[in-house]
Amino acid sequence: MSFQQDPAEVLARLAALRAADAPTHGGRVLSYVYDSGRAELDELAAGAARLVQPVNGLDPTTFTSVAVMEGELVGFARAAFHGDEDVVGSATSGGTESCLLAVKTARDIWRAAGGEGRPRLVAPSTVHAAFHKAAELFDLALDLVPVSAYDGRPDPAAFGDRLGPDAALAVVSAPSYPFASLDPVAEIAALAEAAGVALHVDACIGGFALAFWPEPLPDWDFRVPGVTSLSADLHKYGYAPKGVSVLLTRGRDRQRPQYFATTGWPGYPVVNPTLAGSKPAGPLAAAWAITQSLGPDGMAELTAEAARATAAIIAAVQEIDGLRIVGDPVGPLLAVESDVDVAPESRVDPHRWGDAALAAGWQLQLQPGFAQPGGAALPRTTHLTVTPVTERVLPELLPALAEAADAVRGLPPIDGAEVLGELLAARPELAGSLLPSADGGAGADGAGRLELGSDQAAGLLGSLGLLGGEEPLATRLAPVLALVEVLPRPLTERLLVELIARAVEPPQPS
Ligand SMILES: *Cc1c(COP(=O)(O)O)cnc(C)c1O
Repeated sequence: MSFQQDPAEVLARLAALRAADAPTHGGRVLSYVYDSGRAELDELAAGAARLVQPVNGLDPTTFTSVAVMEGELVGFARAAFHGDEDVVGSATSGGTESCLLAVKTARDIWRAAGGEGRPRLVAPSTVHAAFHKAAELFDLALDLVPVSAYDGRPDPAAFGDRLGPDAALAVVSAPSYPFASLDPVAEIAALAEAAGVALHVDACIGGFALAFWPEPLPDWDFRVPGVTSLSADLHKYGYAPKGVSVLLTRGRDRQRPQYFATTGWPGYPVVNPTLAGSKPAGPLAAAWAITQSLGPDGMAELTAEAARATAAIIAAVQEIDGLRIVGDPVGPLLAVESDVDVAPESRVDPHRWGDAALAAGWQLQLQPGFAQPGGAALPRTTHLTVTPVTERVLPELLPALAEAADAVRGLPPIDGAEVLGELLAARPELAGSLLPSADGGAGADGAGRLELGSDQAAGLLGSLGLLGGEEPLATRLAPVLALVEVLPRPLTERLLVELIARAVEPPQPS
């Protein structure tokens, strides 16, 4: 074999690249990664994935190990979420795919029942972005129900008012990503059932933690009549590597439209339960191995650690002058906002706080303020996802959170309008591209999308200091989020596309 580069050198280079990544283990990154704190579970996952590395998950009759693992993984999830024999499911590539399939399937059933035109997808405004994507891809009108600015939950009666014959699916979260709010599942399910509307519970982030939560919770899963489908990610609180989630559906006949099948080509007969054709079996094998090995007791043990750590963080933040917890978080995540009930000099802006924590080596996640259509403005917040390993680092984390608040207490929130004003003072020629036009769309087309060439977009990013700079973008995010809050949405979305697209372009020849 002639190699251009020795495989060992290639791996050494990757190891060096990995060293520059945010740390995936050790609890310093409080989003994106879910560290069980058990090296043996990571080893188990890697061993299982390696055993099936060459397998094609496309065909469980040729690779029968896939059928066994998927059946047992769905069985584990069904038991955890109190489904009976009528509940069936699929392993998918992740939460987004589970949500996409839930929406597509519900839309197809709605059409088959005589629905015509463009159906609505009804959800609280805290619903995960995956449902925005699903509505766009499968052509549903996303009908967002405002949530309370106090606790992030929609009012069931207001939600019920949106349910009708043109609604193909309603969605609630257990809990929501932005605020960890547990939506009123039972109340909304009763209204949905009465209106004949299918109801999906998005338990992608918290499902496998809530199922083993140490304290009692209101019913939120298949115990609730009227819940027709449920998504839960194994690559979050199932501690599996990325690429695995489950979508469970009540009723075989409700699930079968999820499948795509065709014999209408000269190749092999195609049957796909998910969006991909050929697909890896590695993430499935990893999740299967972890759940088989841990069982419900092991899952409960890990969940208890995350639950204790979450309670400790909530108690610590409540002690910090100028910050407060948003609403009543359920599960191992929470959001923090500025306490506007104290004097301005005592307030802590959650985004400045997040940047100060980052400077001290703790990565929290900044969430912009959000103007709900037809509802109260939602505050800017900082999100923390808590994992079992967090409990071990509490002795360092809790003082760091308090010190980060001390470092920024009394500083006014970064005002996006001011950031924009300074920028325009320096570069007046940008006004035409950055300021909202009368129609609110800065040159947006009918669908709210922005016609902006990629070089133009890159130029704007450069003038905003977001492209081509020396400093890594992730080090001071508060001003970026402040701009997200004030720039017209189509423009922000277009600029974000450009930013990420440029980040992964092949390197320029030097
Ligand atoms: C993570 C998440 C999703 C989407 O999952 P991905 O795994 O990121 O594709 C959906 N809903 C909620 C509430 C989530 O937290």
